[in-house]
Amino acid sequence: MQCKDAQKQLRAFSRGELPVDIRRTVNEHLSGCVACRLKLAAIDDVAGVLAAAKMPSIPVGVSARVLALARQRRNAEAAETWNLMR
Ligand SMILES: [Zn+2]
Repeated sequence: MQCKDAQKQLRAFSRGELPVDIRRTVNEHLSGCVACRLKLAAIDDVAGVLAAAKMPSIPVGVSARVLALARQRRNAEAAETWNLMR
């Protein structure tokens, strides 16, 4: 495997998405190639930074309020439709 082929697989390799045989080939290439190992390290870093910079979690209770509001609205629409049909 050449560097350009290995580097095409690095993103999927980093996410563990490669089939076993391709993963093994990439692994063999990486064990003998510093340049591709550095690329992989950079990809892993980016993935780590993105994971750390995730959106703050939604405060407790917000999703429940949104759900309640959606339910109210749906019930109101249903009632309206029902009244039109009668
Ligand atoms: Zn390489």
